Amino acid sequence: MSQGEHNFEELHFEPAPALAEEVPGPRSREMLAEQDALESSARSYPRSVPVAIEEGRGATMKDADGNTFVDFFGGAGVLNVGHGHPDVLAAAAEQERKLVHALDFPTKPKLRLMTRLKGLLPGALRERAKFHFGGPTGSDAIESALKLTRTHTGREAVIAFQGSYHGMTTGALSVTSDIGFGGPASSPVHFMPYPYCYRCPLGLEPDSCETACAKLLDTSLEDPHSGIPKPAAILIEPIQGEGGTIIPPAGYLTEVRRIASKHDVPLICDEIQTGFARTGKMFACEHDGVQPDVMTLSKAIGGIGYPLSCIAYDCELDTWRQGAHIGTFRGHQVAMAAGLAAIDFMLAVDLPAHAAALGELTLELLREAQAGLPSVGDVRGRGLMIGIELVHDRETKQPWPEMAAQVRTECFHRGVIIEVGGHYGNVARFLPPLTITRELMLTGTEIFVESVRAAEEALARPAALIAG
Ligand code: PLP
Repeated sequence: MSQGEHNFEELHFEPAPALAEEVPGPRSREMLAEQDALESSARSYPRSVPVAIEEGRGATMKDADGNTFVDFFGGAGVLNVGHGHPDVLAAAAEQERKLVHALDFPTKPKLRLMTRLKGLLPGALRERAKFHFGGPTGSDAIESALKLTRTHTGREAVIAFQGSYHGMTTGALSVTSDIGFGGPASSPVHFMPYPYCYRCPLGLEPDSCETACAKLLDTSLEDPHSGIPKPAAILIEPIQGEGGTIIPPAGYLTEVRRIASKHDVPLICDEIQTGFARTGKMFACEHDGVQPDVMTLSKAIGGIGYPLSCIAYDCELDTWRQGAHIGTFRGHQVAMAAGLAAIDFMLAVDLPAHAAALGELTLELLREAQAGLPSVGDVRGRGLMIGIELVHDRETKQPWPEMAAQVRTECFHRGVIIEVGGHYGNVARFLPPLTITRELMLTGTEIFVESVRAAEEALARPAALIAG
């Protein structure tokens, strides 16, 4: 075991993966058909990973037919301490007996959670933060952050970034870059290029660009003829998740922080996916030593999947009036108790260090394998937030979304669940529970590599047949 690593063997089903038969099995098929008859056509994950899940433990899941999978998806980055973590389950059960719903009254779980969170925040937020709990989803936290900064500054416009994903409610959609989701076109949101260095939107090279994308942000705020009014906020993911695990070069976020301060614009860091040890630090903005004015938190904050979200922000912004942002479900006491227990566990075992160590190891393995896998254009990651970009050709970098989808299917048939994202839907993504063991991580990664090989063969087949 390398430094920082732990052996969390007892937290998972063993053995994993373990498939009794072809997946999906008969029970999964039946349940998928039942779902098809009952549920909206907008459902998404079970269409690409056709399985009915019965039980989860750590970084493993059992389906309705008794097959065991390695979970490299982690509930889209929610399950940082894994499915059904015993400490978290115990805390949740104890709280459930006492109190579940409390609007926004003070309760012990809430006060303890805020105090613990405050102690983890970057920079002066550790002393100066205030919290606001809105609705329970990440999108709700984005709504709160937008409303807070708009109220405080009296401005309307917001700067977001190309490739961003912030959620599905109307306000969150307006700052999400994917127009396929049907965001409101009239929102005063301006999208700036994100440092997607593998495909630089400005056509530059990272060695010589001098972060021109950050300069464009600066000049757009400076220039009265840029067409961009002074915004209420700059909203950024410190690492883009759904956009394809895009990691800005060192210093970029620091530069955005400097530009935001220079123009007196609050900086919102969306840590909904990157937070709580995911990237090898408690929060991803810490990699650059950046302190945002507002942080949006959700996903892993609810421990083992209880819905909860909040914003943490500098007390100077705390200028909204009583009742300015209310709601019925703003204080799920079980989620708060669960979140607190999860954070305590993360701190007790130094989960960020474990994620960092396993992330390094996984990247190394993937980069070694890349040489023999022509469709793998780029391998990138930080901690256990990893992306593998699949392309037709490494020279042209033409995105290959069909390859990513095929790899996901091949992985599924071998017992590993992954997700796909990216601007072009061509990035295979790993977001496993951070309590995953080295063995499970290595096994899953080997299966992934084998799956890419199989997908390359499968997609080459029709062309070869035509050629033959
Ligand atoms: N922000 C980021 C960075 C996300 O990754 C997500 C969801 O994936 C959201 C916001 C929206 O969270 P939710 O799906 O809980 O509304």
